Amino acid sequence: MISYWQELLKPLPPLCNDVNVDVAIIGGGYTGLWTAELLSRRGLTVAVLEQEQPGWGASGRNGGLVIPGLAQLYPHVVKTVGQDAAQALYRRTIQAQGLVRQVAAESPHGVDYSEPGSLYLAADQEEWRYLEETKQLLDTMGEPSTLLQDQDIPPSLQHNLRPGGLFMHGDGRIHPLKLIHVLIQRISNRGSGVWGQSRVIGIDETATGVVVSTKRARVSADHVIVATNASAMELCPSVAHNIEPVRGQMLVTVPVPKLDYGYPVYADWGYKYWHQRADGRLVIGGWRDLDIPGERGYALRLNPRIQGALQSFAEELVGTPGIIERRWAGTMAFTNDRLPWVGPIRPRTWIAAGFNGHGSTNTVMAAQLMTDVLLDGESWVPELLPRR
Ligand SMILES: Cc1cc2nc3c(=O)[nH]c(=O)nc-3n(C[C@H](O)[C@H](O)[C@H](O)COP(=O)(O)OP(=O)(O)OC[C@H]3O[C@@H](n4cnc5c(N)ncnc54)[C@H](O)[C@@H]3O)c2cc1C
Repeated sequence: MISYWQELLKPLPPLCNDVNVDVAIIGGGYTGLWTAELLSRRGLTVAVLEQEQPGWGASGRNGGLVIPGLAQLYPHVVKTVGQDAAQALYRRTIQAQGLVRQVAAESPHGVDYSEPGSLYLAADQEEWRYLEETKQLLDTMGEPSTLLQDQDIPPSLQHNLRPGGLFMHGDGRIHPLKLIHVLIQRISNRGSGVWGQSRVIGIDETATGVVVSTKRARVSADHVIVATNASAMELCPSVAHNIEPVRGQMLVTVPVPKLDYGYPVYADWGYKYWHQRADGRLVIGGWRDLDIPGERGYALRLNPRIQGALQSFAEELVGTPGIIERRWAGTMAFTNDRLPWVGPIRPRTWIAAGFNGHGSTNTVMAAQLMTDVLLDGESWVPELLPRR
């Protein structure tokens, strides 16, 4: 089962010869590729090893929404880590979005990146209060957002009888596989390598380096970065008991008439999200709250109950049955406090995982942080350390 975006998956050959690089990276998703992009920009050699094909995991199965901030609404993050740390993390995600914007602008064939903003519709009075609080906090950072009520909300969204919504002006969207291809090209142009069909089966750390093994070849490096999303526990059993694999369901419709709003919408505490692509296709995901226990685990399977709800919503939105083009599922990695893990688990073995369904900017933030630590001697962010 592949996603709509994964129709553009391109097979890459496996690594068949031993190589020496500065940094070995395990996992060819956003985390691994962005880390390879930023390290190779600074002159390091990297080898990215992907067990399937780059973009096979969550990075090729997501909604394509590029959203600064963290997985939780901002007031939740403040409660977890305090105001100063929450602001600092939020700023890192805004910088990360800047990197996405820059790579998109430099892409010769484009990655379908735009910043139409997005609307967060409150499910109830409690979420509305959170959105009001979010706005106050964003104001203090100079991040543009607007509270919308009744008449400001597009007519087709008003029937939901909600207290209102918060429009975030800077939010973006992208074609995930196009971005992945651009990153691979940029990394390869600098003399580094990305390999498919190269499942890592062992990491051996010594006093002077690491050796990363696949069935066919070995990569010797100064450091290794484990960027394998919810599979982190396979290679790092000592820490990953706190990362939970959680499925997300999505579908895309055939091209349908234009909606009366041209930006993505999130509703009900982020459990529902949808947007319309320039070609008229609707991309719809979420509704996980309908079956939270049933959506735990690694298996990439469709959930009939949730897929049924996605379909009903699509048909209601458009007013026509029979419009579903493709359905898929993907695996997210959830942490206990809903903050990612970025840091060392051994001196030369680092992990970046647990993006809680919010990876398009947070994986870039992780890649930037690891680059800063490795090349500029910056400190790790305590709130993101795997053993916090
Ligand atoms: C349905 C769904 C919708 C989402 N929507 C959004 C969204 O709209 N916006 C947003 O910001 N985020 C979204 N997310 C979250 C986002 O996609 C992820 O946080 C992000 O893609 C994680 O990137 P990653 O590189 O860490 O993981 P992945 O993309 O999963 O990459 C990890 C890779 O590691 C490989 N791997 C695993 N084990 C090994 C091994 N032993 N050896 C070699 N390779 C290995 C896997 O095959 C995989 O390709 C969504 C996620 C899902 C599932």
